[in-house]
Amino acid sequence: MSAGATLLKLQQIDLELARNKSELANMPKLKELASKRKTYVKLKSEMTKLYAQRKDLDIELDDLNTTEIQTNNAIEAAKKRHVDGSDYREVQDLENELSTLAKRLDKIEHTRKDVVVAHKEALDRETRAQAIIAKFEEGVKADTKAARAKAADLQAQIDAATKERTALAATLPTDVLTDYERLLKQFRGLAVETIQGNIPTVCHTALQASSMSDLNHDGSEITHCPYCHRLLVLPSKEA
Ligand SMILES: [Zn+2]
Repeated sequence: MSAGATLLKLQQIDLELARNKSELANMPKLKELASKRKTYVKLKSEMTKLYAQRKDLDIELDDLNTTEIQTNNAIEAAKKRHVDGSDYREVQDLENELSTLAKRLDKIEHTRKDVVVAHKEALDRETRAQAIIAKFEEGVKADTKAARAKAADLQAQIDAATKERTALAATLPTDVLTDYERLLKQFRGLAVETIQGNIPTVCHTALQASSMSDLNHDGSEITHCPYCHRLLVLPSKEA
């Protein structure tokens, strides 16, 4: 490859490198993911609260069942107790006791209805939250995978281009390379132009006939544009 062709190729690689590096640095997906992960942590903590609420209701139901069994046992025991039917006070006491126990059973039944409803609602909330979290988790996982793949792909392209650039740069005369690196910074990437007819391809300023003959006078392939001072690669003689 001629020095001029190498220079043009180098510029093409440098432009691609700059594009890929900037894309990698500004990947919006990565920022999105960070905020999604925060939401996920919030959802998880909500889930823990819902679980705790449902567990409390589990315990309340267990307690009601235990109290019901104890009350029924107390009723059985009271019924079996020998009572002297002629002793009005003893009969009255037993009736009072049984009545208190029966009221307790009613109260348990009544409370349990409410707790069962609350428990079902809590379970439903928990199930819905679980479904939302699962879907969210799936989305975050897929996004993370895609973002990582995209980043890895960009990095691989950057690595390959960097390697190619180093090899190409080594084949250029040192003064041309130094000139190129300087102009690269000055013109932010577009340091080299070619010419079509008498019009340079970047600055598009038509050259006068006198300028054209000046460009060609020493027969070198690489010169500078008389207007913008970029490196100017002239068409090779054999082309
Ligand atoms: Zn120019």
